[in-house]
Amino acid sequence: MRAAFPDSNFLEAQLDPDTAVLAKGYDVVCTFVNDSCNAETIRILGKSGVKLLALRCAGYDSVDLEAAAEAGIKVVRVPRYSPESVAEYAVALLLALNRHMCHTFNRVRDGNYTLSGLIGFEIHGKTAGVVGTGGIGKALARILLGFGCKVLAHDIYPDKELQSLGVTYLPLEEMLPQCDIISLHCPLNKATHHMMNKERIALLKRGVTIINTSRGGLVETDAMVDALESGHVGHLGMDCYEGEGQLFYHDWTSMSTPTRLKAWDSHFQRLRNLPNVIITPHTAFLTEEALHNIAATTINNIREWADGKPLTNQVLH
Ligand code: NAD
Repeated sequence: MRAAFPDSNFLEAQLDPDTAVLAKGYDVVCTFVNDSCNAETIRILGKSGVKLLALRCAGYDSVDLEAAAEAGIKVVRVPRYSPESVAEYAVALLLALNRHMCHTFNRVRDGNYTLSGLIGFEIHGKTAGVVGTGGIGKALARILLGFGCKVLAHDIYPDKELQSLGVTYLPLEEMLPQCDIISLHCPLNKATHHMMNKERIALLKRGVTIINTSRGGLVETDAMVDALESGHVGHLGMDCYEGEGQLFYHDWTSMSTPTRLKAWDSHFQRLRNLPNVIITPHTAFLTEEALHNIAATTINNIREWADGKPLTNQVLH
């Protein structure tokens, strides 16, 4: 970024209403998934003279687009920078859960080479449901077909190529009860917020494995924790969490106990302690290929704006 824009400056601070003033004097602010671009942040950015918000991510749920439009700030993003990175990670979470990989790894480190409690299940022959078959969901559906799964899908725009490969699209309520494995890949917006709520979780097959590498807000956390504790949901692999903004990408071990307790999230701690849950801190995207594509597209997004060209990746309100 520095090489492309020598006047740019990297600030460690997470963007929020308290830190937005640091953008004073800059035309462009470049953010990531953990930055909070709510209405208040945007208002301060607008007053500070910022004209472009360049997201280094695909999802734009962290941005109040109405506030951005009002402040005259354009928003650009990096769509589909590496669908395979996230799809492969969803498979990694699935394989870690169905074969108890983390428990086995920890046992061996402790010198325990027993087998009890480690019985897994095959993915081959299972019914997998993919919610959202855009770039990532489509890549995952192909991988799951390769595993020998029956693949069901739900999307507001069914993908013809996947259909020709044998993927069956169904309304969500019809798909959920049939699945042994469900993976979420649609964006977080008003229509998808808490799409996996108490009512829909009640429809799930007992023992189902859920993978969420999309956005935490797709899942109603309390209802999911209850379902995991009761065994109704067998396993959960999650790379995102509703309240991840203040948690992920920070080292909590270096904080004092009172500081940690001030921001203690008991819902997250309930999840973290469950033996049938794997949580990773929004790392599904983190490959060399994805980072390269994110950087290249972001530089191009900013150049287009600077040159007054049409913005290929503009997010419109
Ligand atoms: P995409 O835009 O290519 O695909 C999203 C799909 O969701 C589209 O096919 C769309 O039609 C579908 N969709 C939209 N609304 C829907 C609804 N109400 N019900 C069902 N389907 C709906 O996006 P993508 O590149 O596949 O990314 C999907 C999501 O993954 C992103 O929005 C982002 O939140 C998340 N993501 C996470 C990471 C990570 O590191 N964990 C990285 C990249 C993206």
